[in-house]
Amino acid sequence: MHPQLVLLMELQDLRAQKRALHQDSGETVGLEEEHFNLDRSRAVELLEEKIESLKDTLTPQLRTRYERIAPQRDRVVVPVIQGTCYGCFVSIPTATAGDQIGNTLVETCENCGSFLYIVE
Ligand SMILES: [Zn+2]
Repeated sequence: MHPQLVLLMELQDLRAQKRALHQDSGETVGLEEEHFNLDRSRAVELLEEKIESLKDTLTPQLRTRYERIAPQRDRVVVPVIQGTCYGCFVSIPTATAGDQIGNTLVETCENCGSFLYIVE
């Protein structure tokens, strides 16, 4: 897999983790903080730092594209299964899908702009 695609997936995962931390709140929070050594806001801060430093390792071109699509969606990298982009459910031209075996290139969907990885 292309190293930049791996980075994008890591970014996506860190963002998902951050959302999960924001979402679970309620009565269990106090308990967790008693038992674990890390409070929630510190955990979110650390995730934000990691997200920022990972973004710095993207090429300028990919970073621009990432910044453009990331605010509007949870997933920036989506699978292509049997020629269909799972970001928007539109068919990907076979040329794109065919060149991408092994995910050695970073491709994006022409329709929704998501980064793509091919699931064989
Ligand atoms: Zn798409």
